[in-house]
Amino acid sequence: MVILTSNFEAGPSIHVLTFALPPDDPMEFVPGQYVTFYLVREGKSVTRSYSIYSSAHLHDRFSLLVKRVPHGFASNLLCDLTPSAGATETILAPLGKFLYRDPEDRRVLMVATGVGLAPFVPMLERLHERSPSTDAWLIWGNRYVGDMVGRGELEALAASWPRFHFVPVLSRPPKDGSWTGAVGHVQDAVRAGFPDLARADVYLCGATPMVNEMQDLAIELRCPKEHVFVDRWGEHTE
Ligand SMILES: Cc1cc2nc3c(=O)[nH]c(=O)nc-3n(C[C@H](O)[C@H](O)[C@H](O)COP(=O)(O)OP(=O)(O)OC[C@H]3O[C@@H](n4cnc5c(N)ncnc54)[C@H](O)[C@@H]3O)c2cc1C
Repeated sequence: MVILTSNFEAGPSIHVLTFALPPDDPMEFVPGQYVTFYLVREGKSVTRSYSIYSSAHLHDRFSLLVKRVPHGFASNLLCDLTPSAGATETILAPLGKFLYRDPEDRRVLMVATGVGLAPFVPMLERLHERSPSTDAWLIWGNRYVGDMVGRGELEALAASWPRFHFVPVLSRPPKDGSWTGAVGHVQDAVRAGFPDLARADVYLCGATPMVNEMQDLAIELRCPKEHVFVDRWGEHTE
């Protein structure tokens, strides 16, 4: 059982939720893993999974980045929880095989859309701690500027870590010329910036169609299959 300690809307329909773990049941996780909630819908148990967004150094709590899905059951239930109501939930965690791996002598390319960013935040922390001389990229696609929850922290990380390259990509940039970053989709940015991924570890997270397309592209760009790591969230999720 976990207890909600905070819940705030960090961007349009995007919430950051933090849950405390029982003192006698701390959690160790590998960056990239997720928690699964056991929820009750019309008397039946349903499960939904959410990637851990917080640092792997925290063992007594964890945070999630949850996007409301229109008419979605779990995402709205979670985003509507209030700490003052003492919300408790049942989870199974940590789960998943989308795991941080030490890159050895390879460069690292992470590609996410929307809240698919979540597992990359603890992964980047670990990569920075263990392998700061590795060249690393985060290509992050969103529709609008306002969707980029956590952008400031990623820009600060890029400013303090010369080998880390943060590449936000907008499919619907502002029309007033204020956006000078990449425009289009993450696939466009990867194709334009990475002619050869033979010596890269490629991590992909988010909506299944994007992950599938990016997986094919990474292999086309000569990344060995066993160095492409994927976390597929579903047909629509981004
Ligand atoms: C390993 C894993 C990790 C995940 N991590 C996260 C995470 O960190 N943050 C996060 O927000 N989600 C994450 N997801 C997705 C999450 O588990 C749910 O699928 C999502 O929140 C929708 O669940 P729901 O119950 O609200 O919607 P449902 O009630 O299951 O869906 C309602 C309807 O909306 C459709 N739908 C589902 N998603 C979307 C969408 N994005 N846009 C439009 N229609 C949609 C469904 O097909 C269905 O018709 C993860 C999924 C997996 C498998």
